[in-house]
Amino acid sequence: AVVKVQRDFGNRADRKTARMKYLIADKGIEWFREKVEEYFGQKLPDCAEDEVHGFDDHMGWFPQGDGKYFYGWNVENGRLYDSEDRRWKTAIREICAELQPGIRLTAHQSILFTDLAEDDQEKLKAIIKRNNLPLSEEISTVRRWSMACVALPTCSLAVTESERVLPKLMDQLEVELAKLGLEKEAFTVRMTGCPNGCARPYNADIGLVGKTKDKYTVFLGGQLLGTRLGQIYQDVVHFDDLTATLVPVFTAFKHHRDGSETFGDFCDRLGNEKLAEMCQAQDVA
Ligand code: SF4
Repeated sequence: AVVKVQRDFGNRADRKTARMKYLIADKGIEWFREKVEEYFGQKLPDCAEDEVHGFDDHMGWFPQGDGKYFYGWNVENGRLYDSEDRRWKTAIREICAELQPGIRLTAHQSILFTDLAEDDQEKLKAIIKRNNLPLSEEISTVRRWSMACVALPTCSLAVTESERVLPKLMDQLEVELAKLGLEKEAFTVRMTGCPNGCARPYNADIGLVGKTKDKYTVFLGGQLLGTRLGQIYQDVVHFDDLTATLVPVFTAFKHHRDGSETFGDFCDRLGNEKLAEMCQAQDVA
């Protein structure tokens, strides 16, 4: 219902005011709520305080509670394409034709295939593998929690690359995190091609925001739950230097984290000035 209200009343003519927040600012929250209730077909309960303490991206094979199953399939940066060696579109076409699942899109750019029978699991995984694609279970933790906006060549507002280069950064970070024994740590890395922030970089553990061609502002200190904003750690960092910028921070995290503190919590606790000092001290050592 929310998406339909935005579809029917959002400003589709002017990209700069196309987001839902502009519709709400223009029409008012009461109007928006009434419209959502109209499309939804019933009254919405009033807002209530809630404590958000966990976040599940639903990747993998799970019972859905009614005797059926769903499979959460991680799609890197949400990009579906067929190339010589990877056939995402073909795989989805085959899954839909053969298994006729329900489909849900996640807020992390991935897909849930729902309403599957228990014995569909092997068929589904066989389709994914024969199209030379990774199962969610085969994807590294850092890649699983990464996300990029489309940027170039799709977005006219982009000042630099995002979706097309984040996988290369993931290749590098996977190696470095494994060297440090941090490959199982869950934290979000989000990249955008301009400061508009469409991939939500500002509340990620690591936000990489396109500043100018091939250069990014590095934000640290957000968190997986998305309930805290990161702070600028370094500005105008060339793409080729991103890994070298982040590895000392990962090293500091490994040696100075407090118990099971997350990466974002660690960066937030220390603050960027202290973090930078720690990283410089590693250089000297
Ligand atoms: S963050 Fe910028 S480059 Fe990326 S999709 Fe949004 S407007 Fe385009």
